[in-house]
Amino acid sequence: MPRASFPNLTVLTHPLIAHKLSILRDRDTSTRDFKQLVGEIATLMAYEVTKDLPTEPVEIDTPLERMTGQQVSGKKLTLVPILRAGLGMVEGIAQLIPSARVGHIGLYRDHDTLKPVDYYFKIPASEVERDFFVLDPMLATGGSAVAAVSALQEAGARRIKFLCLVAAPEGVGAMLEAHADVPIFAAALDRELDEHGYILPGLGDAGDRLFGTR
Ligand code: URA
Repeated sequence: MPRASFPNLTVLTHPLIAHKLSILRDRDTSTRDFKQLVGEIATLMAYEVTKDLPTEPVEIDTPLERMTGQQVSGKKLTLVPILRAGLGMVEGIAQLIPSARVGHIGLYRDHDTLKPVDYYFKIPASEVERDFFVLDPMLATGGSAVAAVSALQEAGARRIKFLCLVAAPEGVGAMLEAHADVPIFAAALDRELDEHGYILPGLGDAGDRLFGTR
């Protein structure tokens, strides 16, 4: 069956991302390696996702002479991990963009209804002019992603991108329906969800594997 293609989704197919994702998926990968790999993949994804950031000229003195270089212009980025698994992606991106601010959205998925339950939302009030990267390793039903983006938009945010490691067609479709203007970047688009809302083939419960709670 042909794989669905979505206008809101970019799958980042860099060989290093694909390689690291394969190790991440392996059930025998340790918590320590899992955490490190999530960070490394997030760094590589951030490199790709920021490739259209505007730059402006800057005058600098090298040890030999004066020249005009380039620097990233505009407001700083705000990273918004969806708690708790999204936290695993923050450090990797912050290594590349140390000036990024970090907000937090706390949503958990009710295991019976599979609907997001909101318990925490904190972004600094003056941040709404910035670019926001919403982070969650798994885009499964899309319930949390849709709710997180809605909450950010209600707070005034306009320029939002969604970064995940593994996306399911159901989640990408839900985002397309609710927030067609929010681009999604993923390391992989997987086949489908199982009856419990887990992504197949997926990598299991990202939060449990990150924090060793499985
Ligand atoms: N959340 C996870 O951590 N894994 C899935 O497969 C789906 C949602």
